[in-house]
Amino acid sequence: MSVTETRINLLDLDEVRLREFFLSIGEKPFRAEQILKWIYHQGVTDFDQMTNLSKDLRQNLERVAVVEPPKVLSEQVSLDGTTKWLIGFGGGNAVETVFIPEPNRGTLCISSQVGCALNCTFCATGAQGFNRNLSTGEIIGQVWLAARALGHERNGKRRITNVVLMGMGEPLLNFDAVTAALSLLRHDLGFGFAAKRVTLSTAGLVPGIDKLRETIDVALAVSLHAPEDTLRETLVPLNKKYPIKELMRSCADYVSDKHKRTVTFEYTLIDGVNDQPEHARKLVKLLRRLPSKLNLIPFNPFPGTRYRCSPDERIRKFQEIVMAGGLIATVRKTRGDDIDAACGQLAGKVLDRTRRSQMFREHMQGN
Ligand code: SAH
Repeated sequence: MSVTETRINLLDLDEVRLREFFLSIGEKPFRAEQILKWIYHQGVTDFDQMTNLSKDLRQNLERVAVVEPPKVLSEQVSLDGTTKWLIGFGGGNAVETVFIPEPNRGTLCISSQVGCALNCTFCATGAQGFNRNLSTGEIIGQVWLAARALGHERNGKRRITNVVLMGMGEPLLNFDAVTAALSLLRHDLGFGFAAKRVTLSTAGLVPGIDKLRETIDVALAVSLHAPEDTLRETLVPLNKKYPIKELMRSCADYVSDKHKRTVTFEYTLIDGVNDQPEHARKLVKLLRRLPSKLNLIPFNPFPGTRYRCSPDERIRKFQEIVMAGGLIATVRKTRGDDIDAACGQLAGKVLDRTRRSQMFREHMQGN
């Protein structure tokens, strides 16, 4: 075994565990605060540069620990400024992380698993299968890398203002690593994001939502995609285990527990599948009593899918009906689709997908 393998990666430890770590090596727990500031405020990974630590401690740390972010394998910048990184963890495992700049904010979309086990029928990540969970360090490491690559603060302003767990994977199936990473995102000594600026998106893992409510304060998004069980089962197979009624109970508990919090429901509009006026009306009935927002996402095609995006006119009509019913509904703008960085297109691919998507586009135009 090499020396590195026996050393602990400090990116894997949230504040509580970092204190425990310092105690375990015979140091004062407050060293955790100094280290956190170096890593997350200064972006320093080299113990030698951590000048407020004694030389002895630095040497000791050198022996037992590392601060080792994952590696950027490639970076692509879209015409609209969206940036996508392929981030590698060794052993051929890689995920995609996306930065979406807007005039008044910058959203970083991070991944929680290599692939995904849930097999939602309209999602490119699902089609790719599941490889493994990411560790806390691999999750928070994506934010650390993006912050460095973007120049975290420009003109005194943060470039990343929001973080969403909407990349590859089902975050609630990797609960411990994800919540530790969330705590580093939230903590003042970490990235210091407010609760409403960190969003976890789930396909609807009910026990996970219930546990999240008791663990950490973040914003919740739920991938709904259908107002009734029979249809939802064909899109999100997890619905067979946790049907809509249970999901709604869990969401209602989530918002009742936190002051002034709403759940965001994501609804991908797929041509002829879930985009009819009757679906919109059923959605109104389902959501009108819950403090919630509806995010309508035009379906993003990917190679091999049988689905198509709803026409603009139908999307507009759908939005009209739900808004007339009293829901707050926005249509998510598709960003970065020229670099396959849009919702459901993330695949952490190692193969040349550029050619595959080009073939796919030609195929679609031919029809
Ligand atoms: N597993 C979590 C995190 C993924 S979030 C979840 O399901 O919420 C990614 C969002 O994009 C989800 O709402 C997902 O349902 C949606 N999505 C997946 N594939 C899509 C596609 N091809 N087009 C548009 N949205 C898609």
